[in-house]
Amino acid sequence: MSGLISILLKPFFYFRILHLKGKKQLTTLCFHNISSTYDPYYPALHPYIFEDLCKYFSKHFQVVNFKTIEQYQNSKKPLMVISFDDAYLDYYEVALPILEKYNLTSVLNVITVCPDEKRTYIWQTFVNFFKRIDNEQCLKFGRHYNFYYNNFNPEQFVLAFTQFFQSLEKPDIDNLALKYLEERDYKASKMMSWDQIREVNQKGHEIGAHTHNHYYINSLKKEEIAFELKHSKKRLEEELNIPISTFAFPGAKYNEENITLAESIGLKNCLLMENKTTSIGSNRIYRYLSYGNSTVRLLIQSLGIESLLRR
Ligand SMILES: [Zn+2]
Repeated sequence: MSGLISILLKPFFYFRILHLKGKKQLTTLCFHNISSTYDPYYPALHPYIFEDLCKYFSKHFQVVNFKTIEQYQNSKKPLMVISFDDAYLDYYEVALPILEKYNLTSVLNVITVCPDEKRTYIWQTFVNFFKRIDNEQCLKFGRHYNFYYNNFNPEQFVLAFTQFFQSLEKPDIDNLALKYLEERDYKASKMMSWDQIREVNQKGHEIGAHTHNHYYINSLKKEEIAFELKHSKKRLEEELNIPISTFAFPGAKYNEENITLAESIGLKNCLLMENKTTSIGSNRIYRYLSYGNSTVRLLIQSLGIESLLRR
């Protein structure tokens, strides 16, 4: 409680809130895993930190989604959107009860292949796995699958590896990845089911699209990009029986052409990734990115609410 009082006394805080309200700025946040499980390679935000943030947001912001934002145009508090990408099971099991406790709505951007095929999105999981294995293992793997890369540089390797895998036919990619992960007993992230997504929608949260397979679209052909956008929108609309108009680009990879394409197929709220606020009314929404406990410090500093760190 004393932390909150000290926040109230901070002139910078007042300035920040007045600035956001006066300038009609929307603050949009992007979260991923909320969990107490520690994974140094794919860090989650600890639930107690997430709860502190929610407590703070519920007091000082009007939290909306893109379906409800119009009703709050004249809100006394600055507006905020809390979004979650990918639809991990911990959104449903951990984040949702906390959001409900503080009566906060959210936007959940779903990778539709996951509930469709009852599995995680192999591509990202595999790349994450790949980042943690060493040079020698990478090369061994490359040779095993007839893929050679001699000059090891992690970033270049992941890129070359991406191109190699994307040159394969689906479901070869997924079968190869699954086999590799199973052989090494790698525990992939658990994802939400259609029933859980439907329940979240019925509770008034907004469901957005996040492509079907979660490939980074800058590495796809034009028609593949169109498929990823259209098919994910279609699957959500079929399962939820509502129009879907919000879309988040995977991995913050996008260009002007991609945004125009999304808008042209009815995904009018494009969620982008840049640590800044958005003018209310604009459909290109910048988001502050937060992964694990370390990145939340940056988020808190960006939002001007550092006092939350003193607990
Ligand atoms: Zn994502």
